[in-house]
Amino acid sequence: MTFNFQLSIFAALWLLLGQGVFAQTFHTHFDTTRLRVDLIFAGNAEQQSVYFAGLHKEPQWGGSQTNLIEPFDYGEYCYKVFSTENQLLFSRGFSSLFYEWRTTEEAQNLSRAHPFSLVLPMPKQEVRLEIYERVKKTNEWRRLFTTGIHPSDRQIKQDAPANFAVNTLLHHGHPSQKVDVAFLAEGYTAGEMEKFRADAARFMDYLFAVEPFATHRSDFNIWAVEAVSEESGPDIPHEGIWKNTAADASFYTFRIDRYLTAPNHTRLCELAWNTPYDILYVLVNTAKYGGGGVYNFYGLSMSDHPLAKDVFPHEFGHAFAGLGDEYYTSEVAYLDFYDLEIEPWEPNLTTLVDFDKKWRGLLDKDTPIPTPDTAGYAYTVGVFEGGGYTGKGVYRPALDCRMKSNATKSFCPVCHHALEKMIEMYCGKLKIEN
Ligand SMILES: [Zn+2]
Repeated sequence: MTFNFQLSIFAALWLLLGQGVFAQTFHTHFDTTRLRVDLIFAGNAEQQSVYFAGLHKEPQWGGSQTNLIEPFDYGEYCYKVFSTENQLLFSRGFSSLFYEWRTTEEAQNLSRAHPFSLVLPMPKQEVRLEIYERVKKTNEWRRLFTTGIHPSDRQIKQDAPANFAVNTLLHHGHPSQKVDVAFLAEGYTAGEMEKFRADAARFMDYLFAVEPFATHRSDFNIWAVEAVSEESGPDIPHEGIWKNTAADASFYTFRIDRYLTAPNHTRLCELAWNTPYDILYVLVNTAKYGGGGVYNFYGLSMSDHPLAKDVFPHEFGHAFAGLGDEYYTSEVAYLDFYDLEIEPWEPNLTTLVDFDKKWRGLLDKDTPIPTPDTAGYAYTVGVFEGGGYTGKGVYRPALDCRMKSNATKSFCPVCHHALEKMIEMYCGKLKIEN
């Protein structure tokens, strides 16, 4: 008993000292404001380039001060920040709508450009920013862009791009120790802000009705950005409806009627400039079904459809933890989204190319691979064929999951685990080497 007690004291001390070392690392290299780097991603199905578009200093860094380097290796892209001595100081993975577009038929014959902004804690000294793409055929990282950034550069803008009220819906602690979700109002006029506040509060309740968020409620801060739109509701191009709105959200993305997106990522980041967010969620003021979620880019969905409470956790799962779609029957515009020769990076999908990196540890030794699609395995972690928009060659962990259908209310154990790890990272509780 005494021995265990001493051990736990030792563990607590080690933890405190460890946190202290990491915090020191943070404050050696960064201050607590945020640097936004605006970029343009341009190209087509075959190639892409990144162009620099500007730097902005924003009031508060909302991310962890201890988990500075993302350990998950998720995303189609990543960015890394190095000191002048070549020490890796910060990294994040992400995906984008531009990446999705590159997998459509249109991208075979057309080049186009998409704005994207990334954020990092404001460096105290000169750093080097590098952006990488994941090469589809080899699953290796290839450098797309590099630039030096000096914090005293007078090109770093410090003006306020918007002056919207930010509501605190839930506050459990300092943003560096919590997951900070920012709901952005889209298609709400000044007269509809009361509706937005009620909608955002309702969505917050939807989130905490689902595990693992319910258990981890105290790990979250929730913010609601009252971005005012001139007109109500999003664009619906296939019905000839066009609206002047804060985030310029639109249906008919990639010529799919129900694909509702807000492609101008930089504009979203401008709306959230004074919010210490880890994740942006765009709440679109419409009853028309639609939405999407892209890892470390945004989550977005309609406010008022009867399925809003089911769609929201699904899109949040994409945006927050990089979860892949476990369904394979819906209409999508993507051509061969997953290469069957490559292990996908999404934690809840596998091609069995490198299954040991995935959820093999959660499988019972008697569960067959692939696992039969029968009711007997309804509550078993398995390897079920079908997922990632294809019925063949891509496998998912459960018969059903929040990432597969609206029929079930819960995430499968593999998605649940991935979500918990991401919560730990944003709260600075994840044990990784920095
Ligand atoms: Zn799942």
